[in-house]
Amino acid sequence: MSASEIRKRYLDYFVKHGHTRLPSADIVPKNDSTLLFTNAGMVPLKQYFLSPALAPHKMITAVQKCVRAGGKHNDLDQVGYTPRHHTFFEMLGNFSFGAYDKRATIHMAWRFIAEELKLPKSMLRVTVLETDDEAYDIWLNEIGFDEKRIVRLGPDDNFWSMGHGEGPCGPCSEVFWDTQDPRYSEDDEERWLEFWNLVFMQYYRTNDGELKPLDIPCIDTGMGLERVASILQQKRNNFDTDEFQTIIQSIQAPNAGALDSESQLTYKRILADHLRASAFLIAEGVYPSNTGRGYVLRRIIRRAVRAGRLLGINASVLSGLYPSLEAAMGSAYPELIERRDPIISVIKAEENAFLKTLDKGMALLEDIFANGDHESKTVSGSDAFTLYDTHGFPVDLTQIIARDNGWSVDVDEVDRLLTESRERNRSSWKSSATSKSVAGEINAVCTEWQDNPNARSRFCGHDIN
Ligand code: ATP
Ligand code: MG
Ligand code: MG
Ligand code: MG
Repeated sequence: MSASEIRKRYLDYFVKHGHTRLPSADIVPKNDSTLLFTNAGMVPLKQYFLSPALAPHKMITAVQKCVRAGGKHNDLDQVGYTPRHHTFFEMLGNFSFGAYDKRATIHMAWRFIAEELKLPKSMLRVTVLETDDEAYDIWLNEIGFDEKRIVRLGPDDNFWSMGHGEGPCGPCSEVFWDTQDPRYSEDDEERWLEFWNLVFMQYYRTNDGELKPLDIPCIDTGMGLERVASILQQKRNNFDTDEFQTIIQSIQAPNAGALDSESQLTYKRILADHLRASAFLIAEGVYPSNTGRGYVLRRIIRRAVRAGRLLGINASVLSGLYPSLEAAMGSAYPELIERRDPIISVIKAEENAFLKTLDKGMALLEDIFANGDHESKTVSGSDAFTLYDTHGFPVDLTQIIARDNGWSVDVDEVDRLLTESRERNRSSWKSSATSKSVAGEINAVCTEWQDNPNARSRFCGHDIN
């Protein structure tokens, strides 16, 4: 089943069961400065989870564009190295605002899995919150799962809440697929691919931590499209599924022979992932910059340029791959076609700017690996800072290059130097606020600053989490 068929099956199924289909909201959250990117299907519906009586429909289904590349949910470092993480991905979801309960949620999910996806119980396992006997009982006695296949986990894994403070929250139940990867035994978590999270919002957590039952319990579910595609297309890696392969197969890598096959695959997967993320972000008007969302985009594009360079591609790599992205996803997301020209020109400009400095920075790093301290094998904070400040190397990029060479980076020191330089810049902006272009920049920075006092530490250049 192709990715596009899965999207359609999911939406049709939940529409058939009374849900209203909504289009994907933007990745850049509307009126929500606490969040960098929409990172789950429930994000655009957050206000209705807070006030379910105001929801325009009691049952909603959608395929939501998500990005997990910054802030609390950040899978950027994983991309290319795990079979299941992307920065940009699509989350299929069904949501209820007082229309159905835990039992109906599990039954509906199970029927979709069994009847539409046709996945056998023998290849699945589910988790529930350790104290959630109700969910355990439904999976065991009503759905008929073997008790060996129902795992009780603690609140760290199976209790969902909106941040740490006050708000709706509740237990969840997740569904996993047996990858049968021979490297892992059945007891090894790595063997199991999580693909669907069912959240039962039953409580309201008060300011002092008390859990009170909600008057109107809600349901939020999220299933990763790319993971389901890997299961149905019998691949062990999301990047081997149809839409990714359309992109990956179009990569011409002159230097690939110089790399082992694992590295070749990793760099190609990084390119495919980062192409999708950059295109969808630019389509919404995010531009590369040194703060906030723009900085995440910059990091993504620069990592891609470096992956391309390792594969022997010296020209603007992502823009060259753009036609394959259109071929893979243009019909599901017409914005990729409508906004082709601005997307390509922003990508190209960022790639070219970085290509100019990449060689100088790489030479500096190679010198450090050759002549630096071989005892500690650590790139010093001041070298990492110079790479960032003079050559535009995001610190996480320096970390990746260091890691590839068996080195690490003194992140505490670089963090200190970045904070210091930011303080300096802030005071110099204040004193030179007469220049128009600088004033524009200050405005942008200050707006972000005021919207979210934590923006500096959470979103800025040195965010290396
Ligand atoms: P994982 O444990 O694999 O990192 P998660 O528990 O962080 O996943 P959830 O927050 O429960 O994921 O999100 C719901 C679903 O969205 C997941 O079950 C998965 O199918 C999908 N998903 C989450 N993160 C990613 C990602 N980075 N790339 C692709 N799909 C994802
Ligand atoms: Mg995760
Ligand atoms: Mg998980
Ligand atoms: Mg999960």
